[in-house]
Order: sequence, then structure tokens, then C-alpha cells
Amino acid sequence: MKDIFAELISIGDEILYGQTLDTNSHYISAELDKLGIRVKRKVTVADNRDAMMRAFEEAEANADIIIITGGLGPTKDDLTKPLLAEYFDSGMKLHEDILEVLKERFAKRGRELNELNKGQAELPEKCLPVDNKYGTAPGMWFEKDDKVFISMPGVPKEMKYMMEDTIIPKFKEFYKTPVLIHEMVKTVGIQESILAERLEDWEDNLPKEIKLAYLPGLNQVKLRLTASGQDEKHLQKLIDQEVDKLYEQVGKYIYGTDDTNLPAKIGELLTEKDLTIACAESCTGGYIAHLITSNSGSSKYYRGGINPYHNDLKINILGVKKETIQQYGAVSEQTVIEMAERVRELFGADIGISTSGIAGPGGGSEEKPVGTTWVALADGKNTQTKLYHFQFDRESNIEITSNSLLNLVRQTLSSK
Ligand code: ATP
Repeated sequence: MKDIFAELISIGDEILYGQTLDTNSHYISAELDKLGIRVKRKVTVADNRDAMMRAFEEAEANADIIIITGGLGPTKDDLTKPLLAEYFDSGMKLHEDILEVLKERFAKRGRELNELNKGQAELPEKCLPVDNKYGTAPGMWFEKDDKVFISMPGVPKEMKYMMEDTIIPKFKEFYKTPVLIHEMVKTVGIQESILAERLEDWEDNLPKEIKLAYLPGLNQVKLRLTASGQDEKHLQKLIDQEVDKLYEQVGKYIYGTDDTNLPAKIGELLTEKDLTIACAESCTGGYIAHLITSNSGSSKYYRGGINPYHNDLKINILGVKKETIQQYGAVSEQTVIEMAERVRELFGADIGISTSGIAGPGGGSEEKPVGTTWVALADGKNTQTKLYHFQFDRESNIEITSNSLLNLVRQTLSSK
């Protein structure tokens, strides 16, 4: 079994202008990865003859499978079909069956086909048509020596249909690829460099079949282990062994693997311990509530939240003492303690959490610069607090505050 390599070509000026995000190649990469086909390169090319022809040539030299999306419409600026005909030195052929389907579809909508639409049923002789249930442009499958070229429309719904209906099943039949297994181990609360230092020996002794990647985020680092070879069972065993070693060495920072997310892990712990949570969020503006409630089943453990941005609401609705805010300010340890304790009582939850900080870019002072953030967790016995000095932009400050507080919840629940 040999590695099979793919190159993806997205066609379209609008992608290069930044008007359209290339989600097609993102989807196709993930699907090919599941099949063990390795995407070697992705390129985006303008709607321009020379650029497209050069991209086809380079891709052919580079990969076994070339997947092209976009530029298949009926108008003059859609160049993919005529250029592929030229590239494969192929005449055109009218597919009567496709024409009939198009006529029927148009008739159902009370319309007649015009010449441009009829042209959609004409394809290069050297290709096999690929059915398009949702649009008028068929896809095309070309074979040249041992290379395969596939062209699909840019419209994501049409492209996905073709992938699922035709391309993926054909690939499964065509290619016997080596097995490729990924496992993502997700950590929180430890910096990438410190984690890497701790794992140096483990990393140096990884089996040759396993490759490691560090994927850092905001207060989170994902470790991606990728195993490739022939024997799936053996590879999975190797991965499992290495994940066990990771748990032994840095287990207290690991909250899960693969599809788990931090709030889902907290939901799991709360459910397991039959506890509930409520939040009072100032600087995170409801983001933590959003993260928690994005997981289905959260109604079991999430009592609710309040977002008292204005001090009046912190005092009059939540019940924080006016004197506390006057004496220490809204962004203070004393205020977040009262917020967490009050929301816990007011919402009848086992755990109350709170945030108050200066997310920026404005609002900072010498004493409390942008990024100064207090969080608290009250569980009826103890109230814990943490002070952070984040230095990101507003969006990232909100996200890292949320991750940090959720991690405090995770640590507290794990030790209960
Ligand atoms: P049509 O027959 O609709 O003209 P087409 O194959 O010519 O289809 P394009 O004209 O290139 O496709 O793109 C149609 C639409 O599909 C674009 O306006 C864009 O919204 C979307 N699209 C194109 N390429 C991509 C891509 N790589 N990722 C996500 N969306 C895309």
C-alpha cells in the first residue's frame, strides 16, 4: 500500500479578494483524511486562463488526485470546463440524459432552458459526468495515466452532494490507502512551552509510527497524535498506550480527547456529581453561559445566568453591596466574591461563578490596566478567586477569561 496524495484547487476571484471563505477545501480535506488520502497542498487560483492551466500542471506533477471546485457555471467567466477540455485535449459531447433532467427540472419551475443552460449538458468527451442533484452544472471525473482529476461546482451544497454521492464511494473502491489515525488530547491551564518541556522525554521516545503536533489556543493546548501504517488495531493500541502515558504525566491538565470541549467536560462532571451551576458575568457578557448551553443536556445542570454589566444591576438585581463597589470598584476581588455567592443563592445552584474585568481596548487605568480580570467560584463552603492580567484583544480576553474560569470549575469538581 502506498500513500495517495491529493491537491485541492479552489477557483475564484472572490476567494482571493477575501469575499468568500474557502470552506470547500476545509470540508474536502477532512473527508480525504478520513479515507487516509493525504492532502499535500491547497491552492486558490483566479478566474484566469494562465493561472488555472499552470495550477493544473503543477497539481498533476504534485499529486495523485486533483480536486477542483468552482468556475463551473454557465457564464463566460466560468472557465473550468473549457480549460479542462483543453488540458485533456478533448472535444465536447452533449449528454442527452443530462439535458432531459435539466429540462424536467426547469419545467417543474415553469421555465424553459436557454442556450446557456443547455450548454451545461455538454461536457468534455474524456470525462465521466458526476451527478449534481442540487444544481445545473454536472461535475467531471477525468483519468490520465494513474492520476484522477475531479471538477465540482463551487456552491458548497452541490459540492458536498457530489462528494457523498459519487466521489467518496469511488475513492473507497479505487484506493487502498494506509491507515491514518488521529487522536487529539486536550489540555487546559498549562502553557505550550511548559507542556513541551514536561513531555520532552515522552516525545523523544514516541514510536516511529506516531507523529506529534502541538496546537495552542487560549489557555488550551491540543496535542495531536497521528499514527500511520498498515495495521489499524496495532496503530490504535500504540496511540492508546501513548495517551495513557500522557495521562500519567500531565493528566491534571487533560480534560478530554477528540470531540470533547471544556464546557461539555464540566457538564459531565456536574451530572456525575448531581450538581448545578449558575453564572454572573460582567466582562464575559454571557459568553460562559453561551458555552455551557451550547452543549445539549445542559438544562440538567445549568440553572441560569445574569449579565449585570451596569453597577446598578450588580447592586439592585444581583444584590452586591453598594459599599463593596464604592470601596473596591467593580473589577475587584470583593465584588466577584459577592457576585458568585449571590448568584449561587439567587439561582438556587450548588456552584456560582462570576467574572469582572477590563476586556479593553478602552477602560483601563494605571491601577487596573486593560486585561485585569477577577473571577470567582463559590460552592457554599469556600469561595475561590483568581486574578489575571491578560494582554490580548477584547475578543481573546473574553475567551481566555471564560476558559480560565471553566478550568477552575473543572479542577474544583475533579477534586470533590
Ligand atoms: P455556479 O454554477 O453557481 O456559477 P460555480 O461552480 O461556477 O457555480 P462559483 O461561481 O465559483 O461556482 O461559486 C459559486 C458560489 O459558491 C460562490 O459565490 C460562493 O458563494 C461559493 N463558493 C465558491 N467557491 C467556494 C469555496 N471554495 N468555498 C466556499 N464557497 C465557495
